[in-house]
Amino acid sequence: MTAFSLSPEAAGPRLPVARRTLERLRSVPALAPRYPSHLDAGSLEQLAALPPLAKDDLNTALAHLEPAAEHSATWLFQSGGSTGAPKVGYAPTGFYMAGVHAHWQPLDRTDVFVNAWGAGRMWGAHFLAAALADLSGCRIIALGSVAGEEYGDWLDFLAARRVTAIGGTPSVLRLWFAHARAAGVELPSLRKVLWLGEAWQEQLTEDLAAVAPQARRWGMFGSTETWVVGTNTPHCPADVFHPLPSQLVHADAGGLLDFTTLDPEMLNPVLRYRTGDAGELTACPCGRPEPAMRVLGRRDSVVQVRGLGLDVDELIARAEREPGVARAQVVLTEQGGRAASVEVLVLAAGPGAAPDVERLRKELFGATFTLSTAFQHDPGSFRVRPVGELVSNGRTGKTATLVVREES
Ligand SMILES: [Zn+2]
Repeated sequence: MTAFSLSPEAAGPRLPVARRTLERLRSVPALAPRYPSHLDAGSLEQLAALPPLAKDDLNTALAHLEPAAEHSATWLFQSGGSTGAPKVGYAPTGFYMAGVHAHWQPLDRTDVFVNAWGAGRMWGAHFLAAALADLSGCRIIALGSVAGEEYGDWLDFLAARRVTAIGGTPSVLRLWFAHARAAGVELPSLRKVLWLGEAWQEQLTEDLAAVAPQARRWGMFGSTETWVVGTNTPHCPADVFHPLPSQLVHADAGGLLDFTTLDPEMLNPVLRYRTGDAGELTACPCGRPEPAMRVLGRRDSVVQVRGLGLDVDELIARAEREPGVARAQVVLTEQGGRAASVEVLVLAAGPGAAPDVERLRKELFGATFTLSTAFQHDPGSFRVRPVGELVSNGRTGKTATLVVREES
């Protein structure tokens, strides 16, 4: 197994970008002690010896650096931080998609592309996909997110327009194709499904077979901090991506992936940045010779709730600070892979303790950006409930901080 996605020869000419990022991080007072002067980023070995960056470190760096694009506007997008106000990541107009398009062209001039990633609320994916579609010269339908009762009419419209491509997060795409399947709508001209933001879901493959049998998946992997790291094609497994040459992917000995940008235009100081994803470098069965990355899913306390990251440990810590609460547990109920509700179960500290669950509910909802955004249309799907005991695993006797339930 190789540890880096690029060979020393391929990475070498681009490593001055990593050295410059190291200098930028060194200039951040809160981070400087982590980068003593003997550390460097002039070779892959030196890079592997640098301390990894976590989401909070990057937010600290950005708050100090406040980077600005040289040749365009500077856009602010949501970047991690599942509680409180949104934390921000920066990107120039274009969102680095010219570099993506140079290596990956799922769309061409003949396509009619539906951009179903939500726009607004500082989400980056809609704009990133729009930039790619722009470079492709196709026809664009900027749809964004729609509410439950609107799917039927929009599906009829899309069928009439003979759309050939659609893009969104897998959980949003599932809503589209589940609605189409239930309503008997077919999209025979749809050939391409672009996705980003979550792992591919096999249920989507089944729904597509019924609704749009010609459609094939085209995936991007990335985050608001790293932007697009890699892409795949219908010939690659859904969890394997080919990193771009401007993105250096490293799999450490513990099986965690970290990312280093080698793009001189990148505003976020991404140097051994960990998204929390576990993974490995591997050969892709599509036949491309260079190392690809297999993404094995999150290994931190963040779970996906309707396409947004919810930090379970942080939510529990807040609940357990409430007077009268001894312990808390998060129960995520999914229906067909999509978050239907989130419940915080709270165990009272003693017989006389009566935590004010309604007040706590309001506080958690208001202070947790992921919850207030994901459940904006159905706030009742987030609840805080007092219980006599938490949910524990009868087999192991363990009480996990997070319980995921599947509801049919
Ligand atoms: Zn491949």
